Amino acid sequence: MSAQIIDGKALAAATKAEAAAEAAVLKAKGIEPCLAVILVGENPASQVYVRGKVKDCGECGIKSLELRMPETTTQEELLAKIAELAADKTVNGILVQLPLPKQIDEHAVIDAIPPEKDVDGFSPVNVGRMQTGQPCFLPCTPAGCIRMIESTGTKIDGKNAVVIGRSNIVGKPAALLLLAKNATVTVCHSHTANLKEICANADILVAAVGRAGFVTGDMVKPGAVVIDVGINRGADGKLHGDVNFEEASAVAGYITPVPGGVGPMTRAMLMKNTTQAAAMQNGVAI
Ligand code: NAD
Repeated sequence: MSAQIIDGKALAAATKAEAAAEAAVLKAKGIEPCLAVILVGENPASQVYVRGKVKDCGECGIKSLELRMPETTTQEELLAKIAELAADKTVNGILVQLPLPKQIDEHAVIDAIPPEKDVDGFSPVNVGRMQTGQPCFLPCTPAGCIRMIESTGTKIDGKNAVVIGRSNIVGKPAALLLLAKNATVTVCHSHTANLKEICANADILVAAVGRAGFVTGDMVKPGAVVIDVGINRGADGKLHGDVNFEEASAVAGYITPVPGGVGPMTRAMLMKNTTQAAAMQNGVAI
């Protein structure tokens, strides 16, 4: 293996320490940052994610409200709960864990979260602000990817960056953030021709596909920074990334592991967004 590992756990710990310091500043001013997390239904992966977020809040000195609603919850009931939290001045961040049961329209739910409390950065207002380079909450996973790339000392400016995947929560915003940092960005997806050739030309390769081992060694440019967003549960019960780690790490300059890479950073960025939300809503600089 030639690649250096980008240690997501260590970077996440440092990022959470920043959030904890910000929370302490806020508390000294009588403000207790608070994140409300709504979980609808019993999705096992979602339950794990929500538990993780609540634990992170505890570690950072952020109050958390875990609100569980049954699988049969109607859209109206969920929207009413969001409206209640939106009106509550002691709640700074509102996060609805996705995916939602099929009777609920995800877009309507995200639209209902006020932009100033949208710590996931998914609302159209925050997405638009990000696209136009205005201050906003950045979506946690892509923002975490940027921190991980920059942690290597790699300058993004002028580099060829390739993002595989074009979802609203990872691929598209990752591409926008790389573009904002002056990379030349190519977005690949399930209809892309010559995927291998395009990837093999990438100085920075972000994989957000959802297929274990999708990125093979021959798709990696020697010395590239490889960011593996994928979380795929294998038949072995273990978590696997979208990148074939063994092959890619023999070629790349830097690579994120799975687990212990993008996942922990995503969670840490949520803590940062929550302290920022509390500061902004109270007109305090942190
Ligand atoms: P998604 O299913 O919404 O999007 C997958 C994307 O991959 C699509 O845009 C599709 O066009 C592309 N794709 C599919 N097959 C392809 C192919 N053969 N060639 C090229 N592109 C192809 O998934 P998502 O929500 O963006 O998540 C992607 C992965 O990242 C999943 O494994 C998910 O679990 C993981 N994820 C991790 C975190 C984290 O915190 N680490 C956060 C979100 C998502």
